[in-house]
Amino acid sequence: MHNRALICESDLLGERFRRRQQDNRCTINTDTLIRNLAELHPGQPVVHLDHGVGRYVGLTTLEAGGIKAEYLILSYAGEDKLYVPVSSLHLISCYAGRADENAPLHKLGGDAWTRARQKAAEQVRDVAAELLDIYAQRAAKNGFSFQHNLKKYQLFCQTFPFETTPDQQQAINAVLSDMCKPLAMDRLVSGDVGFGKTEVAMRAAFLAVENGKQVAVLVPTTLLAQQHFDNFRDRFATWPIRIEMMSRFRSTKEQQQVLNAAANGKVNIIIGTHKLLQGDLCWRDLGLLIVDEEHRFGVRHKDRIKVMRSNVDILTLTATPIPRTLNMAMSGMRDLSIISTPPAHRLAVKTFVREYDSLIVREAILREVLRGGQVYYLYNDVENIEKAAQKLAKLVPEARIAIGHGQMRERNLERVMNDFNHQRFKVLVCTTIIETGIDIASANTIIIERADRFGLAQLHQLRGRVGRSHHQAYAYLLTPNPQQAMSDDAQKRLAAIASLEDLGDGFALATHDLEIRGAGEMLGEDQSGQMTTIGFSLYMELLESAVDALKNGREPSLEDLTSSHAEVELRMPILLPDDFVPDVNTRLSFYKRIASAKNSNDLEELKVELIDRFGVLPEPARNLLQNATLRQHAQTLGIKRIEGNEYGGFIEFGDNNCVDPGYLIGLLQSNPQVYRLDGPSKLKFMLDLRDRETRLKFTKNLLSTFLAHRVVLST
Ligand code: ADP
Repeated sequence: MHNRALICESDLLGERFRRRQQDNRCTINTDTLIRNLAELHPGQPVVHLDHGVGRYVGLTTLEAGGIKAEYLILSYAGEDKLYVPVSSLHLISCYAGRADENAPLHKLGGDAWTRARQKAAEQVRDVAAELLDIYAQRAAKNGFSFQHNLKKYQLFCQTFPFETTPDQQQAINAVLSDMCKPLAMDRLVSGDVGFGKTEVAMRAAFLAVENGKQVAVLVPTTLLAQQHFDNFRDRFATWPIRIEMMSRFRSTKEQQQVLNAAANGKVNIIIGTHKLLQGDLCWRDLGLLIVDEEHRFGVRHKDRIKVMRSNVDILTLTATPIPRTLNMAMSGMRDLSIISTPPAHRLAVKTFVREYDSLIVREAILREVLRGGQVYYLYNDVENIEKAAQKLAKLVPEARIAIGHGQMRERNLERVMNDFNHQRFKVLVCTTIIETGIDIASANTIIIERADRFGLAQLHQLRGRVGRSHHQAYAYLLTPNPQQAMSDDAQKRLAAIASLEDLGDGFALATHDLEIRGAGEMLGEDQSGQMTTIGFSLYMELLESAVDALKNGREPSLEDLTSSHAEVELRMPILLPDDFVPDVNTRLSFYKRIASAKNSNDLEELKVELIDRFGVLPEPARNLLQNATLRQHAQTLGIKRIEGNEYGGFIEFGDNNCVDPGYLIGLLQSNPQVYRLDGPSKLKFMLDLRDRETRLKFTKNLLSTFLAHRVVLST
């Protein structure tokens, strides 16, 4: 069977896979979920697995039959309210899909949600199968084991003029260690613009070349190729390494020479655009492919990269934030390193959102020019860019101005960029052609006209063009005059980007479009739609559960994916009382973490943390943890629901229950006064359980004996 084959893996990889999964599990529970719910504010949309998208209203304590419990109030379309017990927070995730106010609320009791969920689950299943397929293919193929010559490598490191940042070092270590393994590397390094990904690539390139292998550095634009070309040349200047460039900046003859050099092994590193992917390029011995911003390549080129993926070590760099959640579902399929901190001494870009005003423009430009710096003036309309430049020249006659855009002749554009780089003029009036990768340390002011027309991610990228050295950099986001002419969304975007001055913040920018873009980048763009419909977190949860199922040799059933969560109701107070954990958001975050804990270890850790932070657990808090343990057991056993009260209760089995039927029959026969079947899937029990402690203990024991009498279903 298809899935079986996927489980065949080398022991080495299997072990690594499992270990990584465990590691990730810890990070995920504490990291993402806290961010997910601890920051929940009233009005924010959330997704309930069974009811769809609603808005969070608040937490409330309700008392029913003398038993206190805390509930999350959600409001749905038509102001309908849903009360969700805090023990069921595993059913809730933050809705990230669209801007908060536009979240498509569902109607309680309607079937739109069921259909959407169904459709998403089907797609997720396919994605999971595809991911595992990639994983299996990776596991099956061997790559080159690079040898590490420490002495030479250290020499190379010494010529790096900075101290590596901890994240950068970790990424470097991971890459080098991947390369030294007999398995082909497929690692993604994700980090904001200017965070130092290039050095990671250089170190990898160094190791490859030292091993006699050739390196291809694939970049999306000609300008970026030039930039990398210059940087690589500088960095490797003292080494006998030949570096060449393939791009439309090069003449046919020059390109032919590079092709020849590639084929006879005379060139070590070639940096280039998609021309590197063309069929006429034969490598003597390609060992490493570095891909910068893979998402900017077209489908055809991506397919070519995919083919190469099965032959050589691949290192992909991206400035799109890849959500850590995704890391988990993907673990082992593609490795991920995240550089989340900027190099030291980097100052945040001071960002101003202003209505267009020629005085502001003049002042901003003069200020930069007078301190010896340069300015990007972004005007994203090629047709009128000449006029805009003329206007600017009149406004600031003191500054030399030039124009650069993508429709210029290549040679001219190259010259302009080169001149700007060498500070031959001060103001570059340009289009978004500067969006990725251009790195000019002395350009420290960017002025963006009609900033309202750009998306958040794009603004963030553009702003990243400045502030790449220790100088204070400035970004002016100019809006139409008056500001009311902008859409609400645009105003919000600009406010968001202005408030996220901190470099780290920019990257952590939990904006939905970025996360979705990042996920889309890895899973395929067509998944973005589904993520929007059911919310990003839920999508990731579904994906993870589908991957898990497939890995264990099971077909992920839709039932499995959408509504397999067990419920346990023992009629006792289960909550973190507000005199124990006073802060609502902290409570919420603990509720969510407890509800989402995957195993008894997770729960034990949470218990220790609670005691550590708040003291001895009061009874309702103990109950909450016990309840969560029971729920985990029930889940393992394929039990749908457990209810207990003063005089007994019942256990309702799901379709995938795995308690030995023989054992159940024995139980019924030996204790007919206690156990009785109520329909085909409900086991009733009748006895005195008035004491809560006894009730808990009884249920726990019963589940323990079930666990001891499990039958493993063959698939
Ligand atoms: P990215 O590729 O992530 O956009 P770069 O690698 O181009 O970023 O780095 C941006 C700038 O920061 C470069 O000028 C680079 O020399 C510098 N840089 C890289 N790493 C460090 C570091 N650890 N400390 C200080 N500066 C650094």
